[in-house]
Amino acid sequence: MARNRAGGMGKAADVIIVGAGILGLAHALAAARRGLKALVLDRDAQANGASVRNFGFVTVTGQQAGACWRRAMRSRDVWEEVAPQAGIEVLQHGLAVLARRAESAAVLEAFARTEMGAGCALLDGAEAARRFPDLARGAPRALLWSPHERRVESREAIPRLAAWLEATQGVAIRRNILVRGVDEAGVDTSAGRFAAPRIVVCPGDDFLTLFPERIAAQGVTKCKLHMLRLADPGFRLPAAVMSDLGLVRYLGYAELPQAEALRHVLLREQRAQLDNGVHLIVVQSADGSLVVGDSHHYGTTPDPFQPEAVDALILEEFRAALGIAPPPVIARWTGIYASAPDRLMFRDAPAPNIRLVMVTSGTGASTAFAIAEETLAELLGESA
Ligand SMILES: Cc1cc2nc3c(=O)[nH]c(=O)nc-3n(C[C@H](O)[C@H](O)[C@H](O)COP(=O)(O)OP(=O)(O)OC[C@H]3O[C@@H](n4cnc5c(N)ncnc54)[C@H](O)[C@@H]3O)c2cc1C
Repeated sequence: MARNRAGGMGKAADVIIVGAGILGLAHALAAARRGLKALVLDRDAQANGASVRNFGFVTVTGQQAGACWRRAMRSRDVWEEVAPQAGIEVLQHGLAVLARRAESAAVLEAFARTEMGAGCALLDGAEAARRFPDLARGAPRALLWSPHERRVESREAIPRLAAWLEATQGVAIRRNILVRGVDEAGVDTSAGRFAAPRIVVCPGDDFLTLFPERIAAQGVTKCKLHMLRLADPGFRLPAAVMSDLGLVRYLGYAELPQAEALRHVLLREQRAQLDNGVHLIVVQSADGSLVVGDSHHYGTTPDPFQPEAVDALILEEFRAALGIAPPPVIARWTGIYASAPDRLMFRDAPAPNIRLVMVTSGTGASTAFAIAEETLAELLGESA
């Protein structure tokens, strides 16, 4: 038997997880809930990937109908259970989608009639202004109110989730360790060998270190996003906010037939935003500041630059949707996630006891907990 660093001869854990982003941590939680001892290995000294650069927006409404939407509903419930135990504040509940065109209002009307519209309310402009005056300064024609979403501050939530897993769930997390190879008996790392009967690899946007051929076979590329933090606007947003542009991007809306007419109008009126993959999400932090984004640029190695022109397109949409001048920008950053043209995630099985799991869309904060539960069920032989 191979010698390993954690226990001399023998296994280091029941399951080794590569990657301590939200997907790796979700797998650690799912393993712990099955009574398995998880060891998480990450090359970085602290969380630095997509999971701490995102909005912390656990999005349900607008996710693609079917598996993605169901995973988002389930993951939202897990966030709800775990957040108070881990000392993670849920800063916002719900989502308001502001439609300022007849075509976008038509998409919302169609959405509200689907199964996914259950629990949501569609308000006309007058009702929106009466109930949510701070959201209606841009005079929306319609407002879809969803109660399903949750929002956490990712840069605090991810470290707290990791600390809670270690303190209360028997999970060990080791950092500054690069995993260089995986086989059926364990992993080879920059800190030696660790053995375990099951291994889950959640490498985020690293396509080359582990299983590069298998990852390439999924047709993945990378997506770079621009993010902004704006100063406190002087009021509290009652929910996260999205706008017309999101209705041709989020598949739960964009796959509705009514989205086609909206796409035509946007191509005419907001071509620059569409060309830069710009849509609007606005969430609010505990100090009142707003996290606002984003844009989408694709490539094997996205450039590291954040052109002002793209940020201006995001801020233009902010002004149009919310009907206020954007408060001053107080921070800017970019993030990268794995992206595939035809799938939101994949789970591959390089061996019966190994799983390679990757979210290939901007949905990992919303779906990771459910994906991890499915992986554990598979590894334990409970699903086909
Ligand atoms: C700007 C931005 C906004 C987003 N907004 C949203 C949103 O609103 N809602 C939503 O649901 N999703 C959103 N997403 C997507 C979401 O953040 C990702 O889907 C999710 O974070 C992916 O999690 P992950 O754990 O796979 O990746 P990561 O967080 O990138 O973690 C991967 C980890 O693996 C480690 N690793 C990789 N290879 C190795 C190796 N060989 N050895 C050791 N360690 C390794 C890395 O160091 C890293 O820590 C957004 C993403 C970005 C970038």
